[in-house]
Amino acid sequence: MSSSDENFRESLRCWLEENCPPSMRTPMGGEEDEVWGGSRGVFASPDQRLWLERMASRGFTAPTWPVEYGGAGLTPAQASILEEELRQLSCRPPLHSLGLWMLGPVLLRFGDEVQKRRHLPPIARGAVRWCQGYSEPEAGSDLAGVRTRAVLDGEHYVVSGQKLWTSHAAVSDGMFCLVRTGADSARHEGLGFLLVDLASPGVDVRPIRLISGESPFCETFFDDVRVPVENLVGQPGQGWKIAMSLLEYERAWISRLGDADFVREEPLEVLARRYLGEDRGQLRDAVLRDRIAQVDMDRLCNASAVRHAVEAMEAGRGLGPESSALKLQAMELRQRWRELKVELAGFQGLGWEGPGFSPAELRLTRDWLRSRANSIEGGTSEIHLNIIAKRVLGLPD
Ligand SMILES: Cc1cc2nc3c(=O)[nH]c(=O)nc-3n(C[C@H](O)[C@H](O)[C@H](O)COP(=O)(O)OP(=O)(O)OC[C@H]3O[C@@H](n4cnc5c(N)ncnc54)[C@H](O)[C@@H]3O)c2cc1C
Repeated sequence: MSSSDENFRESLRCWLEENCPPSMRTPMGGEEDEVWGGSRGVFASPDQRLWLERMASRGFTAPTWPVEYGGAGLTPAQASILEEELRQLSCRPPLHSLGLWMLGPVLLRFGDEVQKRRHLPPIARGAVRWCQGYSEPEAGSDLAGVRTRAVLDGEHYVVSGQKLWTSHAAVSDGMFCLVRTGADSARHEGLGFLLVDLASPGVDVRPIRLISGESPFCETFFDDVRVPVENLVGQPGQGWKIAMSLLEYERAWISRLGDADFVREEPLEVLARRYLGEDRGQLRDAVLRDRIAQVDMDRLCNASAVRHAVEAMEAGRGLGPESSALKLQAMELRQRWRELKVELAGFQGLGWEGPGFSPAELRLTRDWLRSRANSIEGGTSEIHLNIIAKRVLGLPD
């Protein structure tokens, strides 16, 4: 490490120690500990707001973005140091954001100067929340089947159609959408990547109620919504390329968040000892010991792959179809891990509500159920296997 990087680490550590409120250095609990920002964002505590404001004021929410776009302008090496120091001091992430993880990198790569200056700083501050409008009733795995249409009319696109499974649309300010700007027959060539203000007349966001009651999912209807032409990122017809690039970032981020949970949560071994006891210092069941060790080893491999991917992204390199391997590996591992946790806790891992279960035990069940969606969101495992087969291994159709 260069001496300037060492100096950077030193001054950074002092700054973090001074500026990270003590309550932001405690382990994250449930979703209420996540700050998503946006005009409708809520802070569970004044410290959450303070921590976000302080980090954003230094550009540390978007470490490698240029300073003029709200970032800190760090080199990839400095960004890694920041990450290490945040972990070392147990600082919570100040902001969760699809804008930071997905839209921002895409704008940096494909956006024009006006779009970058307009959209990136509010994303870095957490002032605007974005959601993703890709899926439709007839377009999920076959994303090029998108039917939502954007017709040019003077200085506007007039958008009509329906998006489905738009997570958190009801609490977001904007949606980055894949829309059809050309003929239906053009499939991949007829698509555009459009930024839609969800407060526009003609947008109707309807939350979807699931069996558990509320749900983060929405369906979003566009009824002749007028969207300024300057909200098209790239050129008409370039939407597929841009949307695919965004998916690479999405896959890497899903994998990264998954790994952060591993680090944050109680190790499997500790959980096993608590529920199953031990015999002369070790778990009695050798098969169980083996399964725990296997998950832990796989997690280390996954963490190293995630780190490699993040470094590539921070250095401005695309991940390509290898991002499918990363997402597949991370999510299958995550499901195995969640399942094993429930199994180790036995009956206590199967509570839904009521007395007899601690909050942590109730979370085991809910986290396990939530993890079933991990092999669907961001593209299903079957689709990722297809991509790996064709585009990584070069196998025939
Ligand atoms: C938690 C969660 C959050 C989500 N958030 C968003 C969001 O914010 N924005 C958004 O746009 N979308 C979102 N989605 C939607 C998600 O991207 C789609 O569910 C996913 O792409 C699959 O599409 P589908 O549901 O239409 O299933 P389908 O495409 O209909 O697939 C059904 C089944 O068929 C299989 N299949 C389909 N085609 C093939 C093939 N060629 N080869 C092999 N098997 C195949 C699939 O693997 C799957 O098992 C979210 C989904 C989940 C679960």
